[in-house]
Amino acid sequence: MKKKIYEGKAKIIYEGPKQDTFIQYFKDDATAFNNKKKSSIPGKGVINNFISELLMTRLSEINIPTHLIKRINMREQLVRKLEIIPIEVVVRNVSTGSLTKRLGIKEGKILSRPIIEFYLKDDKLNDPIISEEHIIAFEWASHNELEEMIAMTARANDFLTGYFFSQSIRLVDMKLEFGKFWRNNDEQILMLADEISPDNCRLWDIKTNKKLDKDRFRQDLGDVDKAYKEVAYRLGVLSEKEFKKVLKNDI
Ligand code: C5P
Repeated sequence: MKKKIYEGKAKIIYEGPKQDTFIQYFKDDATAFNNKKKSSIPGKGVINNFISELLMTRLSEINIPTHLIKRINMREQLVRKLEIIPIEVVVRNVSTGSLTKRLGIKEGKILSRPIIEFYLKDDKLNDPIISEEHIIAFEWASHNELEEMIAMTARANDFLTGYFFSQSIRLVDMKLEFGKFWRNNDEQILMLADEISPDNCRLWDIKTNKKLDKDRFRQDLGDVDKAYKEVAYRLGVLSEKEFKKVLKNDI
């Protein structure tokens, strides 16, 4: 039995085979509104594992360091052990979600430039929005780390916007997490952590604006599993046949 390090809402982190690794297990559980809404979406974990593997691999190919070492099986990835920075970095290309609610902005406006926002990772406080000033003053990240997170987020957003666009998907917004990896005990490298999937991105069909992400669950729009599968098929990470096999074996 692998030792469980941490269980989150959608994933479990286990001890890895080496001291500087973890195993990241993708669950089918879905939660929204800080755990107030809960359900399970059959196969979601498998799909997110494959989608995140693809997107993290593409980002590492343009020299954005990520924690992913390799996908191990249908639900697990071998990742680097990071010291997680307690901040969620959100980048937005189109107005929707909490941005429109907080500021009374119209839904669906394509922004003149991407907006990067920061939220403190703290469920008890409902992940409040914070500024760069808070991050530096409370030492949640250093000035250099903050600058690096902003640059990596902007680069990942530009790249993934184009990547999704080529599959007729609009990257509306996404949430990224970062952590620090100690190399040879003396060098610290900032890396992208967590996952990149329809759980933490908003993805709309380019032509119809149909939502292909977790908003289908949050807003009770139905066909959540179909939307996630649609993203996986368009990105070419999982065929219908493969996915049916996955569900039959109940992996
Ligand atoms: O709700 P909001 O509009 O602030 O969400 C912005 C983006 O961040 C969305 O893509 C959403 O899925 C993601 N997000 C997340 N985890 C959170 C809050 C937001 O993945 N705790």
